[in-house]
Amino acid sequence: MDQQQPSNCEIMLAIAHEAIQRRAARDGYEAGAYDAEHDPEGYVTSLLNALQRWGRRCGIDWHRELTMAQAFFEEDEREADRPDATPLPPPVVAELRCPKCGQADGFVIEVIERPLMFADGTVLQEDAGRYWGDWSYCRCNACQHTGTVYQFRPSHPNAEQKGGPSDG
Ligand SMILES: [Zn+2]
Repeated sequence: MDQQQPSNCEIMLAIAHEAIQRRAARDGYEAGAYDAEHDPEGYVTSLLNALQRWGRRCGIDWHRELTMAQAFFEEDEREADRPDATPLPPPVVAELRCPKCGQADGFVIEVIERPLMFADGTVLQEDAGRYWGDWSYCRCNACQHTGTVYQFRPSHPNAEQKGGPSDG
């Protein structure tokens, strides 16, 4: 009998449920007793507030986090819609296109670099020195629209069918 892997969606829902119950426990609710589905005390708002405060304390960019969370949410939704879709090949800049304004010439993409750094100050770039992919933060150089690289791929699943402004 094969064990089915929980989907991303199910994992995220479990995390949210646990966080809401823990927040409720702070106010004296017994473990698991709070009505998290209807959230009468507004603990979802409270948790968002807590995360925003955490970001400010630790220097984490709240708006960037919201942008990335929205992008991952949309990506999960699309994958849930099309569980059998074949994975896309790695993205290339020449194929990116802003989902908002359609610009395709330039993008600000956040990359991970792993240079080899020596004690004497010498810095060598490894051959494959820069890593980026569908998960990377991406900003349109024309209209400043932000999202993940995945959202800037015209070929991503459902790109033509839904989401984004239509261009006539
Ligand atoms: Zn744009």
